[in-house]
Amino acid sequence: AMEEPSDNRQKKVVAVVGGGLVGALNACFFAKRGLDVEVFESREDIRQAKVVKGRSINLALSHRGRQALKHVGMEEKIVSQGIPMHARMIHSLNGKQSPIPYGKKSQVNRLPATYKLTNHSETYPNAKLNFDHKLQDWSAEKGLMTFVRSDGTKEHIQADLIVGCDGAFSAIRKQFLRRSRFNYSQTYIPHGYMELTMPPINGEFAMKPNYLHIWPRNTFMMIALPNLDKTFTCTLFMPFDEFEKITTGDQVIEFFQKCFPDSIPLIGADALREDYFRLPAQAMVSVKCSPYHIGDKCVLMGDAAHAVVPFYGQGMNAGFEDCIVFDEIMEQFNEDLAAVLAEYSRVRVPDDHAIADLAMYNYVEMRAHVNSKWFLFRKHVDNILHFVMPKTIIPLYTMVTFTRTRYHKAVERWQWQDKVINRGLLFSAAGAALGGVFLLIKNPPDVNKLSIPAEKMWSRLAALRSP
Ligand code: FAD
Repeated sequence: AMEEPSDNRQKKVVAVVGGGLVGALNACFFAKRGLDVEVFESREDIRQAKVVKGRSINLALSHRGRQALKHVGMEEKIVSQGIPMHARMIHSLNGKQSPIPYGKKSQVNRLPATYKLTNHSETYPNAKLNFDHKLQDWSAEKGLMTFVRSDGTKEHIQADLIVGCDGAFSAIRKQFLRRSRFNYSQTYIPHGYMELTMPPINGEFAMKPNYLHIWPRNTFMMIALPNLDKTFTCTLFMPFDEFEKITTGDQVIEFFQKCFPDSIPLIGADALREDYFRLPAQAMVSVKCSPYHIGDKCVLMGDAAHAVVPFYGQGMNAGFEDCIVFDEIMEQFNEDLAAVLAEYSRVRVPDDHAIADLAMYNYVEMRAHVNSKWFLFRKHVDNILHFVMPKTIIPLYTMVTFTRTRYHKAVERWQWQDKVINRGLLFSAAGAALGGVFLLIKNPPDVNKLSIPAEKMWSRLAALRSP
C-alpha cells in the first residue's frame, strides 16, 4: 500500500518520469511555461558518472526535432555539437559509392545532447532534477508515485500531472495496460543491431563525412554516421539468427569480405575480429498504443508512447515533436489538463502511429529498394517533379524529414501522389510508344540502312517469340 506524501504542496506540480532525450526537453517546455516541474530519472546524473552504461548512439536530428529545440532556445547549441549531413552514400558490393542527396539534416550524439538539455532545464528555478529515482509503482487515481533509490529506500511523491517519458519499456505505461479500452501492440523485428567503430585515418575521417553511408545488402544492411572526433559509428543490422551463426573472428572477416569488403580496411581487420564479440546484438521493438492519457492525471510521450524501429531516423524527432504539440495544445486549452490531455491523444495518436508504420515500411525499403532500379528511377522522377512543382509534388521523405506536415497527412498525400505519378508515367510511356509507332508509320525506316539485315532481324524476332 502506498503512503500519503509527506509534503503538501500548493502549486501545481508536473512530474516528468524519465530524464532521457524527451524527458529532458519536456522539462524545459514545462519550466518555460512557469509550471513547477520535477524530473525523476532512474540512472545517476550522467554528467557526473565516470562510466556511462549503455552505448552512445548517434542520431539524425531533422526539422521536427530542431523546431522543438528552437522553442526552448536550444537548437543552435545542440546542432553545433553535431555534424551536418547532406546525402546518403550508397556503397555497392564492388566498392562503388553513389550519393543520393536529401537536404539539411544533422547528426547528434545521444549523450551530449541529453547532457545539454539536462543542463538547460536546470537553469529554470522552477525545475528540479532527481537522479537515482526509479519509478516502481504509481496510482493514476491519486497521482501518487513510488520511487526506489539504489540504497533500497523508497520515496512517495504526488504530482498533479505525471508525464511518462521513460522509454520503450515504460513503467508508467504498465498501469495503462491494466485499464479498459487501452489499445496496445508491440512487435520485435527479426533483426538486431550492433555498433562498430571506424577510426580516423591519419587524423582524418576514413570516408567522406556529411553523409549517411549505407551498404544495402537485401537482408543485411550496414550504415555509418560521422562523429565529431572523426570516427564513424557503423551500425550493422542483421537477423538475429545470422548474428548467431558467426562465432569466430575468421567468420567475421569472411562475412565482411562477402558483404562489405570496402569497409574491412577502414574498420581494421583486427578490430573487427574483436569488436564484433564485445557486446551482443541489440533487439528493436515497435510499440503502438492509444490513448496516450489517463484523465487529467497522466500522459505518455516519446518512446514510452511510441517506440519505432530506427529506419526513418524519426524516433527522437517524433518524441521532440510530441513536446511541441503538447505545448501548443496547452496554449490552446489554457492549461486545462482534462481538455489538454484528451486533445493531445486525439491529435497525436494518428501521427505517431503513422511514423511507426513508415519506419517499419522503411525497414524493408532501406535494405532492398535502394538497390532497385525502379526505386531509384522513381526517386529521380519525384525529385524532378518536386523541382518543377514544388508545392504540388513533395517526396514523402521530404515531408517527413524537412517539414512539420503531420505524419498521417504526409502519408495520405504520399499515397495520392504515388497514384498520380504512376498513372502519369504509365500514360507517358503509352504516349511515347504510340508516338513512336506513329513516327514509324509516317517515316518508315529504310531497311537497307539498318545495321542488321532485315531477314536476320525477322528471324531474331521470330526466335524471341517462339517458346
Ligand atoms: P529514452 O531515450 O529511452 O529515455 C528514457 C529514460 O527514462 C532513460 O533515461 C531511462 O533511464 C529512464 N527510465 C526508464 N525507466 C525508468 C523508471 N522506471 N523510472 C525512472 N526513469 C526511468 N531517433 C532519431 O530521431 N534519429 C535517429 O537517427 C535514430 N536512430 C536510432 C538508432 C537506433 C539503433 C535506435 C535503437 C534508436 C534510434 N532513434 C533515432 C530513436 C531514439 O533513440 C529514441 O526515439 C529516443 O531515444 C527516445 O527518447 P526517450 O527520451 O523517449 O526515451
